[in-house]
Parts: sequence; structure tokens; C-alpha cells
Amino acid sequence: SGALDVQAVRRDFPILAERVNGKPLIWLDNAATTHKPQSVIDRISYFYQHENSNIHRAAHELAARATDAYEAARDKVARFIGAGSSSEIIFVRGATEAINLVANTWGQQNIGAGDEIVVSQLEHHANIVPWQLLAQRVGAVIRVIPVDDSGQILLDEYRKLLNARTKLVAITQVSNALGTITPVETIVALAHAAGARVLVDGAQSVSHLRVNVRALDADFFVFSGHKVFAPTGIGVVYGKAALLEQMPPWQGGGNMIADVTFERTQYQPAPNKFEAGTGNIADAVGLGAAIDYVERIGLERIAHYEHDLLAYATHGLQRVPGLRLIGTAQHKASVLSFVLPGYRTEEIGAALNREGIAVRSGHHCAQPILRRFGLEATVRPSLAFYNTCEEVDALVAVVNRLAHGRR
Ligand code: PMP
Repeated sequence: SGALDVQAVRRDFPILAERVNGKPLIWLDNAATTHKPQSVIDRISYFYQHENSNIHRAAHELAARATDAYEAARDKVARFIGAGSSSEIIFVRGATEAINLVANTWGQQNIGAGDEIVVSQLEHHANIVPWQLLAQRVGAVIRVIPVDDSGQILLDEYRKLLNARTKLVAITQVSNALGTITPVETIVALAHAAGARVLVDGAQSVSHLRVNVRALDADFFVFSGHKVFAPTGIGVVYGKAALLEQMPPWQGGGNMIADVTFERTQYQPAPNKFEAGTGNIADAVGLGAAIDYVERIGLERIAHYEHDLLAYATHGLQRVPGLRLIGTAQHKASVLSFVLPGYRTEEIGAALNREGIAVRSGHHCAQPILRRFGLEATVRPSLAFYNTCEEVDALVAVVNRLAHGRR
């Protein structure tokens, strides 16, 4: 327990000492990707120096080391999100591949002509397009849960969308564009009452709040390693064991089979059934190290620190003359989205970059939700537990200067 020591945390992230345009780097693009602590960098390096091998196949010492490290990482992921068993954890490239996997396996098997897939207006394109592709293929229909003016899900409208044809609800836990924390537990319970399954997109949640997939009763839960201080190219599908068992594989190849003849193939049980070919072994191990790091600090402590930092940043930006903050839901995590009259979002991003401040300006791969607010783009500072009030002050100072007409 105790408060988070942000200066100690910052020393764990070597890139935070970087300078950009002669200024100390201020990284406020955490919703796009997060930085890696030294322990993760070291763990990957250790893997290549002492453990590197393909897994499962070869019977020699390094294969055993690599397999142990890879499976230990799977165990860490299972504990981290509260899965019942490590065999419910499938390693993929990231949240995008995770959702495509579920669409092409469970979706292909269980969703047919006239069936309905419910998504929310908040979704990232990664939680829209795979369902559209599936719907086009099988003749299903996409229905959309609207949000209110604060960017929060309208639960009454959601209830009205559910019916006997609803097969799946695909919902984000935290919006990458606005930061809204959605009421996933209620959304899951209502979906189940209607006989539908639920996929929860945790890409923006796992680094900010404690997730327990069993408490949520999510059928599927997906996230990307790189947004939780792990490397790129590694991500996770959690699926309930009973569902994974019934699902057909997606990609075929080595590692996922029990026996192959030219007439027929028998598959391994999950998770191997869904991990064809050589996976990203080293970065899975890196993900395990990132989870160790986050757990050492504690998600509860991180959430508490970020809650205060978000309130501080919200307050600072709200006082900038003319600034319009998009996404003002009561329950939010670490994302601020805004526009400033008289400036294109890229101009604001460029002005911030000149001061060493990294934010995203654009549509954040979530065009429908920005259009809900009549916009094509916003400036999006997004916070992590290594950010400070001083960094927020620097952000607000630049935006204030622009608002007062001083380019
Ligand atoms: N869902 C959400 C909510 C996201 O924020 C992102 C990444 N911006 C994704 C899915 C896709 O993640 P990735 O690009 O790592 O596959």
C-alpha cells in the first residue's frame, strides 16, 4: 500500500530520459502505445541470450527453457485477468488479431443469416470491421448502442436492441477516443439474459484498472501487450474453456495439430488449437515481465494515481478559453480528447511536439464516435502512471498559449 512514487517509477523507463526538439520528452500518447520498463527490456534480452529456441517440438535443454518461459507468461496472463485456467489464454499479435480470431472461429460457427451483432458507438475500428466482414459473409446485421452527450453508453437503448436474434455483444471496456469506462458488468449480464455471448475489448482497460474476466463473466476478453508496457506483436484472447473447446481453429499449421493425414487432421486442445505456427515467443515472455512489473506496483495504486492525474488534467484543460472537451462521462480512464476553435488538430499536435510533448491528433481509429460529436478529429492526450502533474502543466501551457492566439 501507500501512494505511488512517480519519480521512482520514471527511473524504471529509460526512454523517459529522452529529449525531443531539445526538450525533455513528455509522453502523453499512452493510448496509442506505452513505454517499456527496463525489466521488460532486460527480460527479452535474457531470453535471446539464454533461452532462445522454438517451443514444444524439440527435445533439448533450450527448447525446455523457452517452453517454460512461454508457458509461465501464459500463467501470468491468466492470473492477471482472473481467468480460471491458463488453457483459456491464447497468444496472438494484438487486440486486432484477437478480435479477428473470435470473428473467424466462434463468429463463423455461431452467427448466421439474420442474426444480430451488437457493438457500441464507442468502438475502435478493430471492434467494428471484423464484425462487418463476418456480417457481410454470413448475412448478419450490425446494431449499434448509442451514447449520451458525455460519451457514456445509453443502457436503456441497449436493452431495446437485445432480442432473440442477438448472438454477440462486442463492447469496449474503456474507449480509446474518449476514455469512457463502460458498464461492462451490466452489459454482460443483460446480454446473457438475452442468450447472447459477449466479447470485451480490454485494449484500453488492462493498464488502468483491475480486470477480472470471471467477475465480469465475459465470454471473450482481448487485449494488446504493447498498451500494458509489454512489446508490440503480442496480445491475448481469453475465452471461456467450454467455448474454446467447441470452436473450430482459425489458422492451420504446425503446433496446433494432434495428428495429420491427407484425409483428416485432429487438433490439439486449446490453447494450441489456436496457435498455429511459431508464435512470438520472446515477446510473450516480455508480456509476462510487464505483468510482473505492473503487479509489483499494483493496479489499485495505479488506478488511484491516474484518477487524480486525470482530474488534474481535466481541470487544467477545461480552463483553457474556448477549448471543447469531448468525453465527459463520470467514469473515465486516462484519456482526454479535445478541439480548440481556430486550430486544426494537427497544428496543435505539431505545436506540442515542438515542446517535446507527444499526443495523438486525428481520428484515433474510432471515426464513428467522433462523428457522433460532429468531429473528424480531436487532440488526444492520454496518461499513464509514469506521467506527472508537471507534464500536464506543460501540456496545458502550450494549449493555453494557442488559445490566446500566440502561435
Ligand atoms: N481496441 C481498442 C479500444 C484500442 O484502443 C486498440 C488500439 N488503439 C485496439 C483495439 C487495437 O489494438 P492493436 O492495434 O494493438 O491490435
